[in-house]
Amino acid sequence: MNFFRRFMAGRYGSDQLNNALLLLGVALILIEWITGWNWMGVFILALLILCYFRIFSRNIQARYAENQKFLRWWGPVSVKLRNARMRFADRKMHRYFKCPQCKQRLRVPRGKGKISITCPHCRTQFVRKT
Ligand SMILES: [Zn+2]
Repeated sequence: MNFFRRFMAGRYGSDQLNNALLLLGVALILIEWITGWNWMGVFILALLILCYFRIFSRNIQARYAENQKFLRWWGPVSVKLRNARMRFADRKMHRYFKCPQCKQRLRVPRGKGKISITCPHCRTQFVRKT
């Protein structure tokens, strides 16, 4: 372990971006395995090389900046994914509509027939079947 610690001294190591790249690599391996698209192996190899390049890189500032950029992009995406998962789990109890005026998302109970919905945000009224 001593050798490894000395080897990694001054190198960047792993971060969230690398974890995401590795997950993507595993997903691609599964897709390649299911579909038999052997040409995907080139991308998987490139992805792995990129991961190792980032882990062993001595340019810590550049790698850190890449990760920050990734996290800024991933933050809103992860919120959207979480919301979509919650709506999916809730699909038997509520219906979700977007306000035609301000695009605010609204939640109404299911099975109430045709109802007039008032957007709490901009007061627009619209009729939807629940
Ligand atoms: Zn509205």
